[in-house]
Amino acid sequence: MSITVKTPYSIRLGVVGAGTMGSGIALAALNTHMAVTLYDISSEMLGQAESYLKKYLKRKDKLANLRNLQMTRDLETLRGAGVVIEAVPEDLELKKEIFSRLDKICPPPAILATNTSTLAVTAIAASTENPQRVAGMHFFNPAAVLPLVEVVRGVWTDDRSVQSLVDLANLIGKTPVIANDSPGFIVNRVARPFYGEALRLLMEGAASPEQIDQLVRMGAGFRMGPFELMDLIGIDVNLAAMQSMYDQTFGEPRYRPSSIQQRMLQQGALGRKSGRGFYDYEKGGVSQDPKPPRMDQQSGEVLISEGTWAPGLQELCTQAGYHLGQPLSLLTRYGGFRASGNPVAGIVQAGDGESLRTQLIEMDRILPPHIPLFCQCAQVTLNEAATWAQRPERLVGFDGLFISAGKAATLVASPELDPDVQRKGETFIISLGRHAVWVQDLPGLVLPRIVSMLANEAAFAVAENVANPETVDKAMQLGTNYPHGPLAWARKIGLAKIIRVLDHLRTEYGEERYRCSPLLRNWERQERIGRH
Ligand code: NAD
Repeated sequence: MSITVKTPYSIRLGVVGAGTMGSGIALAALNTHMAVTLYDISSEMLGQAESYLKKYLKRKDKLANLRNLQMTRDLETLRGAGVVIEAVPEDLELKKEIFSRLDKICPPPAILATNTSTLAVTAIAASTENPQRVAGMHFFNPAAVLPLVEVVRGVWTDDRSVQSLVDLANLIGKTPVIANDSPGFIVNRVARPFYGEALRLLMEGAASPEQIDQLVRMGAGFRMGPFELMDLIGIDVNLAAMQSMYDQTFGEPRYRPSSIQQRMLQQGALGRKSGRGFYDYEKGGVSQDPKPPRMDQQSGEVLISEGTWAPGLQELCTQAGYHLGQPLSLLTRYGGFRASGNPVAGIVQAGDGESLRTQLIEMDRILPPHIPLFCQCAQVTLNEAATWAQRPERLVGFDGLFISAGKAATLVASPELDPDVQRKGETFIISLGRHAVWVQDLPGLVLPRIVSMLANEAAFAVAENVANPETVDKAMQLGTNYPHGPLAWARKIGLAKIIRVLDHLRTEYGEERYRCSPLLRNWERQERIGRH
């Protein structure tokens, strides 16, 4: 007998656990008129779930659907359910005990699914005699609102079970993606560097949580910054997820938990729920981003070197009214700026190490003194670039990769930077309509580092057969609200550039954490020879 879900009415859905997720899943199903049996050991939790369901069904004018709900403290009541979704606390032994009981109460063809975020579906399935009908069905919180559901295939899960859960997800208005059973599945895995790299940057004093969050939001278009998001999730929950990934992968360095979070836990700073995390919620929490500065019409000349590491910057300068200087090669031949040129800034945007060095030396030579000289620093430290400059006191590092796409620009001051040049440099960036955020000179800066590591993690996930590239991107956009899927984003920026940033991080830190996925390199080679 086939159990493929055809209509919302054809099966009864069993939900085990009436907490945050169980009640949310029940609500999603009741919203579409499906019959639901909600089981919990606690009558208090069942009472709370009932009030929650009433409130939200009423809001949608669907209170009548409550007649499709059955609440119980007796697991036997789930007999006859076509699909059972388990949402009890994240405890492997507890889940295994429940699955071994469900295995007898709901024999095949019923399908048993777990909403676990971090445990192995296969380990849970091993507690049953029919592991082929056990899978993961991972909803996101709030389950009734967020569209994504990861349907997770354990090693024994058969196609019929996967397809039935995909059908069920579609029926209750969700967007399912299929992932193979692996630590963190897609979303909780690929999102790790968003937190991990932000914490590393904070640890190394690159910038404050406020500055990093601002850059991530204003500079790259993420809806939330990593620190405000960690505060929302809960520092304890976020740390536990990282720890679980680290343990399940036997110490993969990309998932190494941060001692910053551990210290916060020790102080009871758990984020919003405790009133204090990276932000102090008794003092207003996260402040609003500043409005991007107005672009008034400017005059003067900007000299931009050849290169592709600041895409869109030329257009940005001409939009602001600046005149673009002659190409560097011509200026070099004819002896540099003439007095009438009124130069306001020189910008080096080469990527290749040697041409970056040559261009910086040339630009430094021909540009009059006291004019800020900007050097893109996504894959070179400003410290290294400063060794090439004759006048390091007018050298300003910047992130060219994100300058035209976002509304905030990352700037780095060399230790020798003349305060007057620094002011001029900042004024110039503001005149381009960008909010200026000064950070310390760390490899990969903030956005190139976070976005490259997200793409790298996504490529590792694809290489390890968790899901295909399109699925990974779709899951990340729906599950985390990222502005782009990390792999499509990496292609937009250029795979070669992403790899250069990763290799730079790897060289500077000498850590395995920053090793580039071989698959990312393969994709780049194929792209280069036009086979993508
Ligand atoms: P929760 O603590 O809010 O709810 C758990 C419920 O299970 C409680 O109502 C509790 O009374 C009940 N319960 C405990 N032991 C039970 C038993 N033996 N039999 C029946 N019910 C029992 O937890 P939650 O946040 O809803 O998480 C549930 C699962 O969903 C976990 O595996 C978690 O990892 C996963 N998950 C949580 C989130 C999230 O953001 N909260 C997101 C995705 C997945």
